[in-house]
Amino acid sequence: MNFQTHNISDILLLVFVYFMNLVDLNINIIIDFDSTFVKLEGLEELARISLHENPRKDEIIKEIEKITNDGMTGKITFENSLEERLRLFKSNKNDISNLVDMLQENVTHSIVNNKSYFMENSQNIYVISGGFEDWICPIVLPYGVIRENVISNKFFYDEEGMITGIDKSIPLTKTGGKTQCVRNLTLSGKKIFIGDGFTDYEVKKNGEVDEFILFVENIHRKELDNYADHITQSWDEVLAYIS
Ligand SMILES: [Mg+2]
Repeated sequence: MNFQTHNISDILLLVFVYFMNLVDLNINIIIDFDSTFVKLEGLEELARISLHENPRKDEIIKEIEKITNDGMTGKITFENSLEERLRLFKSNKNDISNLVDMLQENVTHSIVNNKSYFMENSQNIYVISGGFEDWICPIVLPYGVIRENVISNKFFYDEEGMITGIDKSIPLTKTGGKTQCVRNLTLSGKKIFIGDGFTDYEVKKNGEVDEFILFVENIHRKELDNYADHITQSWDEVLAYIS
């Protein structure tokens, strides 16, 4: 009898919290992009596309993956990780357009299922990524994410559309960049960072957000388990936790 009553109250609570929006909860959520909003690492996939005719493709991709992981687990600085990876391949606007097509097919499953939540809560949702606006905006804006709430890196191109460099005036090219970007937002209310990597946890470590949720639907970097306030397998679990 007690068990049944408990179950019903749980269900009622779930129904109630499901409809509570982030404004009412006074929560801002900041989401990472690579391996969080999408299943893949954008820069790695760009390298795969750009190197498709290169006979040393597999070898170079392995090297890029190793650098990504060393950055994600905090073994090397983000600054070094970004520069070293970009040195290993050349890309153009056409490669980026192909990457966008690929990422559109690889948005994280539980985020696709919760698209309406993103549309309805866009005022309090931010995307901060060490990836590049050229492929992040075409993926997240259709989910209602506001352009000003997307903070990411920026390429420079030459007249033929080849990438010639990155805009180093953006804090995200530097170690601790995500922390600086959150600080610049001067958000009020509770702040929660949701991501899969070390640079996401760093924002909590630096005291700029209240909580770090480790998101493991796409990849589970177990080295980060001890740093997380909560570990979630899906966006549904994120919503259940923050509500
Ligand atoms: Mg990530």
